[in-house]
Amino acid sequence: MASPKSQLFGEFDLINTYFLRNSSPNTASKQERAHVLLGIGDDCALLDSPPNDHILAVTSDMLVENRHFFSDTDPKLLGHKCLAVNLSDLAAMGAKPMAFTLSIALTQINHAWLAAFSEGLHALSDRFNCPLIGGDTTSGPLTISITAIGHLPKNNALKRSNALAGDDIWLSGEVGDARCILGIARGEWLPIPGSENFTHRMHAPEPRVDLGIALRGLAHAAIDISDGLLGDLQHILKASHCNASIQIDQVPVSTLLSNSSRELRRLCSLKGGDDYELCFTAPNANAPQIEAIGRALNLRLTKIGQITEAINKIESQSPSTPQFGRMRLIDQDGNSLDDKQTQIYLKSFDHFESS
Ligand code: ADP
Ligand code: MG
Repeated sequence: MASPKSQLFGEFDLINTYFLRNSSPNTASKQERAHVLLGIGDDCALLDSPPNDHILAVTSDMLVENRHFFSDTDPKLLGHKCLAVNLSDLAAMGAKPMAFTLSIALTQINHAWLAAFSEGLHALSDRFNCPLIGGDTTSGPLTISITAIGHLPKNNALKRSNALAGDDIWLSGEVGDARCILGIARGEWLPIPGSENFTHRMHAPEPRVDLGIALRGLAHAAIDISDGLLGDLQHILKASHCNASIQIDQVPVSTLLSNSSRELRRLCSLKGGDDYELCFTAPNANAPQIEAIGRALNLRLTKIGQITEAINKIESQSPSTPQFGRMRLIDQDGNSLDDKQTQIYLKSFDHFESS
């Protein structure tokens, strides 16, 4: 689509300067990218089919200025993050990244900003051998939309609907730091000594791609934590028609939160969001293999609860309505939180909540 062009340096100069890259000097990665038959420059990019018995996984995520990031966000970190959140979705399905497209609206051509943004973007793209193959560029309020494509074996997708009663619930890494840092930036709570060492947890999340791939055939269901641990886990429970019990004080947190008050720790870790860790369910028999994966990837993997069966409740009118999507939150003393407290931690971020 044609867009308004600045007089000297237009849309195509911009694409050629910041987004088109000639063949990588690294031959190993060139081979890995052999599935890209045609990249930026034509009406469509062309991709080879995935390996035999593999299927495609496709995901999109959009980031809007002042909604998902502050205007003064370091553009290099923003370039990293807008691709990272898409790779995180591929990871949560167990897919290996293949390529991505970038649609971007810019208020103006700011060379320093574009150079830093594309540097952060390409650095992460190189790490996961997931090249930029096309997109769209237009003027407008700063908005960044990425679509990423991956592939995975036909029967190994870590679908939200695959959890089974009896599964362990696992979490990768540590959660809550991004929310804690955001709360400090917004003045919701006071700065915590040393919190400046954790700002990368909000601005530069690490997509757990290798973990997602390693969990194929071992885990049943998975989701990446973007809107808050318990709210996101509830998507698995609803899709799988089951319930869960969670040991909330065993949810792994960094030293930033382990040294904070219990309230702040629970709030940030249970309903925080922007963590991009993987929450997944797996049969207990697979626990030793999952622990071995954690050691091999040097990534903390923690059991935080169990999937339980839907409750059959006898209603006065209808015969029996199975109830699912419920969570029993258990504290460190083995006590269950009451309904009111549970609801506070369950409510995750919703963009349309106030409207
Ligand atoms: P069309 O007019 O066919 O939609 P465009 O003129 O918009 O194509 O884009 C020209 C080429 O540049 C296409 O291959 C398109 O995929 C690519 N492209 C446009 N914007 C971007 C971007 N932000 N990142 C990567 N490639 C882009
Ligand atoms: Mg065209």
